[in-house]
Amino acid sequence: MHYGCRFGDSRASRFFRLVGFCYDAIPYSIAAHFLLIDLHSHSTYSDGVLSPASLIARAVGNGVSVLALTDHDEVRGLAPAAEAAREAGLILIPGVEVSATWAGRTIHVLGLGIDPDNSQLLNGLATQAASRLQRAIRISERLQLAGIADAFRTAAECAAESGVPGRGHFARLIVERGYARDLKSAFSRFLAPGKPGFVQAEWASLQQVLAWIGRAGGCAVLAHPESYRLSPLQMHALLEQFKAAGGDAIEYSAGSGKALEGIWRLARFFGLALSVGSDFHAPTPGAAELGAVPSLPDGATAVWQRWNLDRKAA
Ligand code: MN
Ligand code: MN
Ligand code: MN
Repeated sequence: MHYGCRFGDSRASRFFRLVGFCYDAIPYSIAAHFLLIDLHSHSTYSDGVLSPASLIARAVGNGVSVLALTDHDEVRGLAPAAEAAREAGLILIPGVEVSATWAGRTIHVLGLGIDPDNSQLLNGLATQAASRLQRAIRISERLQLAGIADAFRTAAECAAESGVPGRGHFARLIVERGYARDLKSAFSRFLAPGKPGFVQAEWASLQQVLAWIGRAGGCAVLAHPESYRLSPLQMHALLEQFKAAGGDAIEYSAGSGKALEGIWRLARFFGLALSVGSDFHAPTPGAAELGAVPSLPDGATAVWQRWNLDRKAA
């Protein structure tokens, strides 16, 4: 069964109520040309450092017109974000970034245009939160052995809104306590596979995650494909299963020009749309900034083309 995007039916009205801006008069083709679209970002409801309202304000300041908030396995930031977006005249796409297990690895899938009240999605995210909590406790135990004390409590305090610390929160405390000079080296020295604080998380399967997103009426986007360090053969296997399970798009994420070319080639081969997103977490110099996304190659299908942004809000 293919779930896929379903903005054409009654779900669309719920979607457009969440969209904070009446956007009915501008044809898609003209609109898309002028819109700065960023479909991947984080708030304090996962491992981002800005509240949903501050995130919206920063997006507007950067000229972003359409923003998806995609917190890790968490949708509770969407309501405050929608309210701020309405006031600011920004189109908010309700999203989520779901961790999935595929072939013994963790893969991230964005659900874009989801119904955040869908019970199957919410039940799924609740099991993910339980897994994240278990992992956080084990990471903390392992960091303790490596000489980093009391990590769980500190990380949980940083995870202000959800209370469930993710790896990003541990990375931040490792840096703050001076065990690593930046987040990147905190990950590579402590949190990556084979390092003292690495714990293999138990996420739902890729198929399961795509089913949740589909049931919630969302488009499923494979996030930052270059980050999984898959061989070409493995990437083909992943995308084949992703497509077969109802996957819609692949993220054309910031990276080298050569990596982007490879992503575009894969999208064409598998008949997937492209999505763009900054994966913004924090206003850190040198890190991803809201709205800093590549433009899509000519001829590509954009994931937002399916959203009928020009359709009259119901
Ligand atoms: Mn993150
Ligand atoms: Mn991710
Ligand atoms: Mn992300």
